[in-house]
Amino acid sequence: VRRDLEGLGATEFDVLVVGAGIYGSAIAWDAAQRGLTVALVERDDFGAGTSFNNAKTLHGGVRSLQSGRLGELREYVRERRALMRIAPHLVRPLPFLVPTSRSLTRNALAFRAYFTAYDLLASDRNRGLDPARHLPASRFLSREECVRLDPVADPSEVTGGVLWHDGQMSSGERMTLAFVTSAVRAGAVAVNHARVTRWLLDGNRVIGAHVRDEISQGELDVRARLTINASGPAALSLLTPLFGGTASPLVPALSLAMNLVTRRVVSEAAVGGFARGRLFFLAPWRDVTIAGTSHDPFTGEAHTLQVSEADIARLLADLNAAFPRAGLRRDDIRLVHRGLLPAASINGTDVRLLKSSIVRDHAEDGRPGLLSVVGVRYTTARHTAAQATDLAGARLGRSLPPCRTHETPLAGGEMPDVEAHLRAAEAEAVAPWTPATSRHLALRYGSQFRDVQAVAAHDPSLAAALAPTAQTLAAEIVYAARAEMAVTLADAVLRRTDLGSAGHPGRPALERAAALMASEREWRPADVEREIERVERFYEGEESA
Ligand SMILES: Cc1cc2nc3c(=O)[nH]c(=O)nc-3n(C[C@H](O)[C@H](O)[C@H](O)COP(=O)(O)OP(=O)(O)OC[C@H]3O[C@@H](n4cnc5c(N)ncnc54)[C@H](O)[C@@H]3O)c2cc1C
Repeated sequence: VRRDLEGLGATEFDVLVVGAGIYGSAIAWDAAQRGLTVALVERDDFGAGTSFNNAKTLHGGVRSLQSGRLGELREYVRERRALMRIAPHLVRPLPFLVPTSRSLTRNALAFRAYFTAYDLLASDRNRGLDPARHLPASRFLSREECVRLDPVADPSEVTGGVLWHDGQMSSGERMTLAFVTSAVRAGAVAVNHARVTRWLLDGNRVIGAHVRDEISQGELDVRARLTINASGPAALSLLTPLFGGTASPLVPALSLAMNLVTRRVVSEAAVGGFARGRLFFLAPWRDVTIAGTSHDPFTGEAHTLQVSEADIARLLADLNAAFPRAGLRRDDIRLVHRGLLPAASINGTDVRLLKSSIVRDHAEDGRPGLLSVVGVRYTTARHTAAQATDLAGARLGRSLPPCRTHETPLAGGEMPDVEAHLRAAEAEAVAPWTPATSRHLALRYGSQFRDVQAVAAHDPSLAAALAPTAQTLAAEIVYAARAEMAVTLADAVLRRTDLGSAGHPGRPALERAAALMASEREWRPADVEREIERVERFYEGEESA
């Protein structure tokens, strides 16, 4: 896919989508697939905002049952299944377990009734899925099994446990990108590092947006019959010039959500534990653990989001209260995930998250031509995108075909059988590729892995890892620059490849990646230094993803 800045200004689109998190990207794909002309602009990189920071869990709504929200539970089951179907190479089934202890033993019966009801409500969870991606029913664990699967449980406390499965994305970034790539293949023009600075107006009607290219500093107008504001936490401030400084017309409040990416403390299953009445999880992911998620009040403007040492210390204390035997310390933390989520209400330290996404037609606020979308979960973005596209069709006076994004494989996801795909990749590996490197690519790039291999056709050194400590291959960086619109070093190492998305990959790997990007993008030595510096600042928490 090409960064087609000229294409943005060349025509009036049916739809301009502002913001390429998972919500904007899913809307762009759905709208393009249903025959609308689409532009997608992102001020940073695709998936660099809240969507970078999620815990990678595709939820099945286990907790929705608790408060009787059955419609929500069913939505989660359907959406988890849809993502596992359209991108099977990027999602694996992950067991989750919560131990029962003596003090909770009396709840074991209630637990049993709860999960029997859940399994019944989610009985179609595997319909149409590759058997390799089937999620088993929940089950109860003996004390011994629980202790074996949960290395941080206290054997003297545990009486047993309950285990269920959810989906886990190996790379939320490649999932978001797959939506963007699919949209582009269906005709959309998608441009990263292109920031909306103001709306274009014709009287009260929004007719597009003025965009600044953050790379060349050029400016242009993008015109559209309908504009969709999917800019995540920035959605509120972007609307301010249209609605004045009045209270947000969209959501009551924003809350700060955080995960800590730490050294590996669990390996087979995600394990749950309680602190201050809240449920936390330690989830195994790649060679690290994702620990969280905390939800706290946030009072500033979205763009001022900065995580403080006190925020980190508070989450660390909660995690150590929930999992005393994990013994997590400040220097175990490799990365801090942070993001702002829409909240229904905040009372003191008590945050009630918004439970369902919002699609708002601002015609109702006196601003026709503009919709806003506020998303609550990564898992449910595809469904909200379908609702937004339905509304877009109605507002454009177009009769659109029904949504098919729940069943159409995303770019790279075209494979009926993941295991057969991986075996074939291993079997056909010829030098310089090894079965292991072929498998690595087949998992990350799905059906497109041969395109990455082709990059090394003239330079076999590109088939090697970037550094002895890294799994990422040099060819992946080059492919990111040539075929996946990676413009900055951060794009390549944080969001196209696995190199830096689970923590700092080490200076030598970063420098090698920078050298490869430099020759693709004709950077001078000063550019290389600046790009490395920006990535270093990201790990220090001073630069957004
Ligand atoms: C710590 C944490 C853990 C989470 N864990 C999970 C989980 O395990 N499972 C799950 O389902 N959900 C999870 N979530 C929720 C999920 O990540 C979010 O609901 C989702 O990513 C929101 O996506 P979005 O597209 O609305 O927002 P964003 O990803 O923030 O996308 C908005 C985009 O708009 C861009 N933008 C802003 N202003 C402009 C502008 N002026 N011009 C152009 N572009 C602009 C931004 O750069 C950004 O990329 C978690 C969230 C957090 C913070």
